[in-house]
Amino acid sequence: MTTIETIGIIGAGQMGGGIAHVAALAGYKVRLYDISGDRIEKGIATISGNMARQVSGGKLAEDVRQEALARIGAAPNMADLAEADLVIEAATEDETVKRKIYAQICPVLNPEAILATNTSSISITRLASQTDRPERFIGIHFMNPVPVMKLVELVRGIATEDQTFEASKEFVRRLDKTATVSEDFPAFIVNRILLPMINEAIYTLYEGVGSVEAIDTAMRLGANHPMGPLQLADFIGLDTCLSIMQVLHDGLSDSKYRPCPLLVKYVEAGWLGRKTGRGFYDYRGEHPVPTR
Ligand code: NAD
Repeated sequence: MTTIETIGIIGAGQMGGGIAHVAALAGYKVRLYDISGDRIEKGIATISGNMARQVSGGKLAEDVRQEALARIGAAPNMADLAEADLVIEAATEDETVKRKIYAQICPVLNPEAILATNTSSISITRLASQTDRPERFIGIHFMNPVPVMKLVELVRGIATEDQTFEASKEFVRRLDKTATVSEDFPAFIVNRILLPMINEAIYTLYEGVGSVEAIDTAMRLGANHPMGPLQLADFIGLDTCLSIMQVLHDGLSDSKYRPCPLLVKYVEAGWLGRKTGRGFYDYRGEHPVPTR
């Protein structure tokens, strides 16, 4: 089985940062790449801050935090990922972006290295076909926030070899997370079920059935969800939510997956949720305030 020691991560956003965080704590050497040095530095600073919160919450010792941080290095150029045994692409949920990344990364990688994607919805088989290694390509789909959420969905493309699958399963086990296996269909299991619910909550708002507050309170107290669906949408990122709905709509050709026009409007406004300071709630003040 492929021995994994060094992890390369492409995309230092919410997910790439989270994956770097848990991989470093599990003892892996991590190399983090993004489109600019600034984004990488920002990603590493966020990881450091998140680990510091774990320390103050008594979940992590300070010396363990320091050791883990020392295992994370910036990779300002793709060539800096050459030594990785496993590269996880966690860049923006856009197939064109991912294709360009694969064209750049494949020539750099060791022929034995595994290339994985953290895509929330795009076909693993189709993404794999854009690489030089469909047998060593797999979906390793983490949940947000990565340090907290226990689940990882493993998704094999049509060509994914058993060795790749077993090595990925072992990687997930070493992170102390639980893997479920999903077939390669649009949005896999979790998002196939979760995103239509979030989209329906946005339709409920759009049609005036309830306010942001009423919808979130209703689902928290009425369905015992830890977060309301609109709060969760802001947390995921509204661009990511829209992109997943588009993949479901296109991939399954069923009008029940039509993205809500209000979701499209928020994305067009650049109100993408927490990461941009505003979505269904405005996060720029002390407390989140509904924007409708
Ligand atoms: P994000 O917007 O926080 O981060 C995306 C990062 O990708 C940004 O830092 C951006 O600069 C970088 N990027 C864009 N183009 C790039 C390129 N060409 N090369 C390198 N980096 C590039 O988004 P995110 O929430 O971290 O999502 C990343 C991936 O993880 C997506 O595929 C998404 O579907 C998936 N995902 C997201 C969630 C979630 O809840 N947000 C959960 C599971 C999986």
